[in-house]
Amino acid sequence: MATPTKEIKKALPQPNSDFYQLAETLPPDELAVVKQVRTFMETKVQPIITKYWVEDSFPFELLPAIKELNIGGAGMTGYGCRGGSVQLFGLIAMEMARVDASIATFFGVHSGLAMGSIYLGGSEEQKQKWLPPMARWEKIGCFGLTEPLVGSGTAGGLTTTAKRDGDTWILNGQKKWIGNAPWCDISIIWARDLADNQVKAFIVENKTTPGFKVEKIQNKIALKVVQNGLITMENCRIPEGNRLQADQSFRDTARVLKMTRFLVGWEATGCAMGAYENALKYCQERLQFGKPIGSFQMVQDLLAKMLANITASQCLLVRMSQLQAEGKLTDAHASLAKAFTTAKCRETVAWARELLGGNGIAAEYNVGRFFVDAEALYSYEGTFQMQNLILGKAITGLSAFV
Ligand SMILES: Cc1cc2nc3c(=O)[nH]c(=O)nc-3n(C[C@H](O)[C@H](O)[C@H](O)COP(=O)(O)OP(=O)(O)OC[C@H]3O[C@@H](n4cnc5c(N)ncnc54)[C@H](O)[C@@H]3O)c2cc1C
Repeated sequence: MATPTKEIKKALPQPNSDFYQLAETLPPDELAVVKQVRTFMETKVQPIITKYWVEDSFPFELLPAIKELNIGGAGMTGYGCRGGSVQLFGLIAMEMARVDASIATFFGVHSGLAMGSIYLGGSEEQKQKWLPPMARWEKIGCFGLTEPLVGSGTAGGLTTTAKRDGDTWILNGQKKWIGNAPWCDISIIWARDLADNQVKAFIVENKTTPGFKVEKIQNKIALKVVQNGLITMENCRIPEGNRLQADQSFRDTARVLKMTRFLVGWEATGCAMGAYENALKYCQERLQFGKPIGSFQMVQDLLAKMLANITASQCLLVRMSQLQAEGKLTDAHASLAKAFTTAKCRETVAWARELLGGNGIAAEYNVGRFFVDAEALYSYEGTFQMQNLILGKAITGLSAFV
């Protein structure tokens, strides 16, 4: 009789986290882009990313290849942007996160939060000026909303101030956790106008604005490849021409967040996919009691539940993309998706880590990284609780915000 390992080896399927053939819902030209991103992530990012993650540093060596992918401004029309459907935008982020959630976050911050702020809130002239070089990745952006003392409460509590002075504005305050800030070119800074108390957005040129300082946040345990900064602004003078002209209040900030929370949903799903595929491969190869651990019923139970989480998240996000494309996406829709997919991601990556036993916490086994990165996805761009409060208000008609 053949040994169990030989029998199973013959029939082993390749790990596949696209169980319902989600990719096939895209038109051929968009599917080709997604495949290109997958190839880039598997061949250029995968071999080097653990080293950068361990070192807490950003792989600048990848930037030329990222530029060549021509994905800057995916889902946005005109101004040199990649264009395409919102689902394409999401699937690019998902494919990136399937290999590394930090690279997906870098893409989401630049092409989603920073470019999206200008795309949604800029005047025609501002879009013409800033979006083409950003789409070409010649100018990299960040998005500064959170402050050291104000996170969930940014809607009513921003302490960074903007004071009009002739044709300029004077910004004072701090922004914390800002992805890409330690090295990027421009920051979208959200500040409270002292005159009318409303939140407004400003494009700040990081490297040439006197009084603008960024310190890298050290010793993170998640998304270690993304460089996050603590921004301090002391009397930064910004021309009126750099104030996003269509943004008048926090409602406009929320419009950007609605778009990018949807993107975090895709990132979380990609993160879960990466953890699942690595864990499944491990279970097919790792022997205990003389058999692959993937042959044990309790292990298969976890793998089945992981794939169900991923598939449910993917289907939800496809419908959400349709709603967004039809202009029907509400804040509550986006919040449900962000909360659900990040919670399911967190559950899935924890099971993946569990299935690797001790190796689940060793960086080189490629699952521990997904496990910790999921924690950041769960909390950034609005925590689980904040999303559920937005949803709770929509479904009950009663606000529980304090
Ligand atoms: C890796 C990383 C990257 C980030 N990148 C950026 C970025 O690029 N730009 C940016 O602007 N920000 C960024 N952030 C900030 C992020 O959006 C905030 O961390 C997040 O919104 C939560 O804010 P907080 O950390 O201040 O937590 P807090 O608001 O202090 O919340 C702490 C806890 O209290 C709970 N809580 C708060 N209020 C309520 C309430 N009313 N009811 C119930 N529970 C409540 C929260 O859910 C949470 O569990 C990033 C954060 C991380 C970790």
